[in-house]
Amino acid sequence: MPILEVKELKAYYITEKYGRLYRVKAVDGVSFQVNKDEIYGIAGESGCGKSTLLKAVSGLLKPPLQVLEGEVIYNFGDDVLNILSLKDDKQRRQVRGARISHIPQGSMSVLNPVRRIKKAFQDLIRAHLGSMERSRFEEMVKKHLDALGLDWSIMQAFPHQLSGGMRQRLTIALATILKPDIIFADEPTTALDVVVQRGVVQLIKKIKKEQQNTLIMVTHDLAIHANLCDRLAIMYAGKIVEEADVDVIFNQPQHPYTLMLLKSLPKLGDKSIRVSAPGAPPSLIHTPSGCRFHPRCPEATAHCRRENPELLELEKGHRVACFLKGGC
Ligand code: SF4
Repeated sequence: MPILEVKELKAYYITEKYGRLYRVKAVDGVSFQVNKDEIYGIAGESGCGKSTLLKAVSGLLKPPLQVLEGEVIYNFGDDVLNILSLKDDKQRRQVRGARISHIPQGSMSVLNPVRRIKKAFQDLIRAHLGSMERSRFEEMVKKHLDALGLDWSIMQAFPHQLSGGMRQRLTIALATILKPDIIFADEPTTALDVVVQRGVVQLIKKIKKEQQNTLIMVTHDLAIHANLCDRLAIMYAGKIVEEADVDVIFNQPQHPYTLMLLKSLPKLGDKSIRVSAPGAPPSLIHTPSGCRFHPRCPEATAHCRRENPELLELEKGHRVACFLKGGC
């Protein structure tokens, strides 16, 4: 059984403005499975719903985000739970941090600017393991920091005294100190320069290998997916449109949107102008009829404008949502 199974998940931002109700369909009928010890990537343009998917799956539900339908089942071996059935945020917080952890886009959403780094570790450990003796706490944190190549002296620093790369390393240290079963990483390298990005990706790889946890990586950066992931899902306008092993996505992409994404990537030595998908991603309030990619798809037919293709298995482990690829 997979460690995570998401079934027909719908998560919308529902807001009211001037008496009108707006429904932003950020995640609209998404199903996928993640196996234990796997690195599963989710890619797509900004605003396609990938970060919202991560929030909904990890139970980070704050208004106006609401889950309307679907199931998110975790199988930790000794425990099976549908995180969406936990009504109380306190119960969800107990699962997050200990069994599920989250590396966010920006370290400052985790680190309090007016408290020393040590306090963030103390708060997390106290919330999940209760109070512990100072010597035991220091031994536990020191051991973890050593494994990540970080120095204990950093615990006395305030966040503003550290570089962005160092803060992101500390965010990873915080997210992994309790050895969670699943780590969700939401654009963890955004806003870092290329050299620091490489260090952060290597750190994530190292800790994942040591702790043998499952990693779900969300980023628009396809180079990071190529470097890190086992399988990759491509999202477009709130839906998964293609999913396969990362090598298959890069070498035999089938969905027209995936083809366009890959064609837009720079290639060493190739100075020709890169072609990207024409137009812009659609509004998630007024989504296009039929296939959501049809306004930008060079292969679109009248059928595509009317009907929405299902995500179907083209061959073992390779799912595509396109009428040209046998979709119905
Ligand atoms: Fe293009 Fe039609 Fe396939 Fe959608 S279903 S990607 S519009 S060919």
